[in-house]
Amino acid sequence: MNEFVKNLSRLEFVLTKACTGRCRHCSQGDHTGSSGCLDAALAVRAIRDVAGRWPIRSMMVFGGEPLLYPDAACAIFRAGRDAGIPRRELITNGFFSRNADRISAVAGTLAESGVNKILLSVDAFHQESIPLGPVKFFARRLRAFGVPVGLSPAWLVAREDENPYNQKTRAVLREFADLEIPVWEGNVIFPEGNALKNLADYFDPASPPPNPYEQDPRDIRAISFEPDGRVLGGNLNRQSILEILDGYRPE
Ligand code: SF4
Repeated sequence: MNEFVKNLSRLEFVLTKACTGRCRHCSQGDHTGSSGCLDAALAVRAIRDVAGRWPIRSMMVFGGEPLLYPDAACAIFRAGRDAGIPRRELITNGFFSRNADRISAVAGTLAESGVNKILLSVDAFHQESIPLGPVKFFARRLRAFGVPVGLSPAWLVAREDENPYNQKTRAVLREFADLEIPVWEGNVIFPEGNALKNLADYFDPASPPPNPYEQDPRDIRAISFEPDGRVLGGNLNRQSILEILDGYRPE
């Protein structure tokens, strides 16, 4: 086995870069003009191949806004469940439609898909462009279908910091109090993309918050699939994931 990937245990899927949000803290920058979705059939094959060789412990689907493509997201979760991956998570801003029937249908499809944790991104930043009404309705429907869902806010500087954004985030979280869904740890914003452009004054250059997606290139533990099929220097449209993993060498 390739020694640089021998500890692989996690799969991440950036399903699409298209997004309904326009967040000033987004690490991916602006999403204007982004479209397209990872080919679900390629992703499903990759899950089967990787899980057949490595003991994969967790997988996560996110974006952009992944529920702009719910069928692809659900196909990936089904493949993860069938391959025996125990932790199967989705991060969503919860705003993919204003139509109640559509929102309900997507919640029902997710309930059947095998996803076992949905992290709903709600905070001062997301709610500058994303209306709370459809997000709360989606959360209610997920609960009604028995899907584990919780709120996952982005904090600036630290969760305890008393800056105006964190104060607004606490107010947004209170808006969900009647739903009685858990508030999870969330994440601390790191200086990349829009955050670096718009929130630079909040970062201490001497000790910026770490980027949770960075890892040692000599000890790959997670691989991330991009919407166009790129992964770990290769591309699923040209090679199998096993060829990519076998051929990987750190720069
Ligand atoms: S932070 Fe999330 S919801 Fe906001 S623009 Fe970026 S991908 Fe979209």
